[in-house]
Amino acid sequence: MELPRRIPHLDASGKLCLVQPGSLLDASNPEGLVLDTLERARTVVQRGLDGANDGDFVTEFLAYWEHEASAVAWSICALEGPPRAIYAGRVPAWASSEQTTVLLADDATSAAAWAARVRRGLRNEGEGFYLPMESALMPPEFGERLHFGPFCELIERHASAANVEAARRWLQAARLPALILMSMPVPTLASPMAAFMVLLPAVSEAELGIARRGWRKGRGPSERDIALRKHRALVRGGIRRADAAYLLPRTGDAPTLLGKRVTVVGCGAVGSHLASFLAMAGVGHLALIDKEHLARQNVHRHLLGLDSVDQYKASSLATVLQPRFPHLDIAGRDADVLEVLRTAPEVLEEADLVVIAVGDETLQLRLEARLEKHARRLHVWLEPLGLAQHALLTSEPGAQGCYGCLFERDDRGALHNGASLAAPGQALDRTIAGCQDSFFPFSGMEAVRAAILGGEMTVKALKDAATVTQLVTAVGSFGQFTSAGFALSGRAQRLRSGETRVFKDLGRRECTICGMAP
Ligand SMILES: [Zn+2]
Repeated sequence: MELPRRIPHLDASGKLCLVQPGSLLDASNPEGLVLDTLERARTVVQRGLDGANDGDFVTEFLAYWEHEASAVAWSICALEGPPRAIYAGRVPAWASSEQTTVLLADDATSAAAWAARVRRGLRNEGEGFYLPMESALMPPEFGERLHFGPFCELIERHASAANVEAARRWLQAARLPALILMSMPVPTLASPMAAFMVLLPAVSEAELGIARRGWRKGRGPSERDIALRKHRALVRGGIRRADAAYLLPRTGDAPTLLGKRVTVVGCGAVGSHLASFLAMAGVGHLALIDKEHLARQNVHRHLLGLDSVDQYKASSLATVLQPRFPHLDIAGRDADVLEVLRTAPEVLEEADLVVIAVGDETLQLRLEARLEKHARRLHVWLEPLGLAQHALLTSEPGAQGCYGCLFERDDRGALHNGASLAAPGQALDRTIAGCQDSFFPFSGMEAVRAAILGGEMTVKALKDAATVTQLVTAVGSFGQFTSAGFALSGRAQRLRSGETRVFKDLGRRECTICGMAP
């Protein structure tokens, strides 16, 4: 049956969409479910006929637009700023059903960098233009053909005069085929910009023949005249957005960390997972430093697996993470951190935060002394056999309170980490085959827990520069540790198994790194 007017939520096949996302259907009450559904259908149709829910057309715009779309492009363009020429390239497709996909980018350089990061070849493909609309378009009818004339009128109604003029100038010079990436505001969507495209096809020999019929040779209309004829059909296209502003909001966050730089020193079990969490959080620039290769014995707690054994951990990790997040910049440095401090100190000194996950107290103290005046630091480490994970964050460089403040001397003058839940003076590593093969027993999940603790504090510090110096201790369980014959520290006696405690005011005057001690 034909309805007297088009209504929202009704698709081309006549199906009515009634389900609200997240709604619970009570299968134990089938009769109520049917009655409820019929009532909802009646309401949607009635409101549609009354024009009460016409605003929903805009929310559903892309569903209507893409119903007749015969092309799809991926876009990494920033959907903001003025109308402008953009780069259109072609990359091998993601879906196996297609050979290649069009890639739209702000410029050739960013397209090339992105394609390299997802390990795809790229070749140039015609011309592109970005045209933002000021107001939302009503969607076309199902089955409606889009012609150049009505399309221009549509643009004139919904884009600013200056934008329309910019598009006109571009169109007069563009080579065909060309495509126009369009955006429009849809305030009701989670991502408030809807993107779609229009393709202006090249003029075919057949079209040329028909258009020039009756003209003397060389006097007929030019290809451009033919291409821009009002009745000429355009091709509708769908856009698959892969720009950071589209990809990140699902994490519950605006892409606020894209401009931040974090350097991760130590790409072992903790550092590798932490680096991956920072990439997931959308930290824009990650530098990973580690001079070592991945050892076979560590694959069950490291992010990398057996296929990366005997490879450098830093560059292998970057190679694994980069294609997952091509809009981030992730670089590995297979070098000693002290060497990096000599040859490229800016990698650490100019970072918004340096994450130190080296699992080596001597090196941690050395790095703390070297970086104390230059960069914010976060040390993250764990204690074996499920005992605890710790993270120490410092406030701005040069402030009192640092990793060194945790260290105390015992009666015999030996230095130990006062944050430890293990009593000092115990050898906590185990040996299978002599010194060369000694290890510190902790599971992959404990490494992940430490990485989450350090990752969350890193993100907090990046978002809020005022976060003060603090030590966070996540206490595990004491059982495995004590039944292995080890003793707990005095600090452990004051903490409960399973609790996470935050300690502030850590600064000590006698600290040799940040204190006033001579
Ligand atoms: Zn200190």
